[in-house]
Amino acid sequence: MAQTSDNPLAIEIQKAEGVYLYANGKTYIDCISGISVSNLGHSNAAINEALKNQIDKHLHLMVYGEMIQSSQVQLAEKLATYLPSNLQSVYFVNSGSEAIEGAMKLAKRYTGRSRFVAQENAYHGSTHGALSLMSDPYFSNSFTPLLPGIDFIKQNDHSEIISLITHQTAAVFIEPIMGEKGYLPCSMAYLKAVRKRCDETGTLLVFDEIQSGYGRTGSLFAFQQLEVVPDILVLAKGFGAGMPLGAFIASNNIMQVFTENPVLGHITTFGGHPMSCAASLAALNYLHTESIMDGIAEKEHLFRRLLVHPKIKNIDGKGLMLALVFEDVEFCRKVIDACVDSGLLIDWFLYAENKIRLSPPLIISKEQIETVSGIVIENIQKQCNL
Ligand code: PMP
Repeated sequence: MAQTSDNPLAIEIQKAEGVYLYANGKTYIDCISGISVSNLGHSNAAINEALKNQIDKHLHLMVYGEMIQSSQVQLAEKLATYLPSNLQSVYFVNSGSEAIEGAMKLAKRYTGRSRFVAQENAYHGSTHGALSLMSDPYFSNSFTPLLPGIDFIKQNDHSEIISLITHQTAAVFIEPIMGEKGYLPCSMAYLKAVRKRCDETGTLLVFDEIQSGYGRTGSLFAFQQLEVVPDILVLAKGFGAGMPLGAFIASNNIMQVFTENPVLGHITTFGGHPMSCAASLAALNYLHTESIMDGIAEKEHLFRRLLVHPKIKNIDGKGLMLALVFEDVEFCRKVIDACVDSGLLIDWFLYAENKIRLSPPLIISKEQIETVSGIVIENIQKQCNL
């Protein structure tokens, strides 16, 4: 197996259930969720049942969009009931990166423009197009040339919105809660200003809700708490409920440009795999029938109440996308390692080495939050005592 990190966790997991991962003789509490994927916990019975039902019907039939596959249609129909009137056309793909590629192509084709604006320190994926939207040269320098014509704006900074979003800009890519920068929410005023400038210039506004979608911040999508509606919504990760699935969603009017010049504006073989769509639909139903989103704010508050220590300088984020902020990078690293040794799986961020990522399954109970917080505080204290 190819290995791209010289320091992998390398824990061999035999079984996963709820918030627990079972390795050889050791149990871990999962507070990463495969990076915001396993929102409804591992081995969720409703998702497993949907997968078993689908497996008995059919697996792959034909490349995306050629046959009527009920699990795709039902998921698109159900999603549309939760989305505003300009987000009613769903293109299913395999991953977050592919969904970003699809959104970039759609914006180019619809506007006839080729420039893009993205946020500094955003992460939109690892394929060439998505990588072009990454401002940090460390990650992109070795893969140049990437796409030309990309400008970067600073999160929550209004100063360059007017000068950089212009009549040449096809789309602006925004993470409403910036992931790899350490779960930093965009302010409503900033998003409104970006929306206004996009309207003035005929630029499409794209929200990457690959991490923040499917209930993680307490609403199905983070933008639903933000009074700003994008032109394209991009989903993946938790959207697939543990199966590989992504989507970019736009209006029928925008999406229909993919039907001509050229026909088949985006082609994908496995996009919207029937198993993935069945899992995603089961997750969507579960989120609502079990009122999962109603409990998120309370769980966030509990974490914030319990995770108090002089070494924790702040808790960034929203809902169950939380980042513990430390002053010292080295100290932060040691706490992460010590927690993993103690059976708590937590993680770091690409662009915020002084922060700990807490992104547990949304079904985590109050008792489990107490246990998790206890382990974190204990390990912080232990590091202080060393
Ligand atoms: N956008 C965001 C906000 C992400 O967090 C990620 C994955 N970390 C991606 C895009 C890319 O998704 P994928 O890994 O499925 O290609």
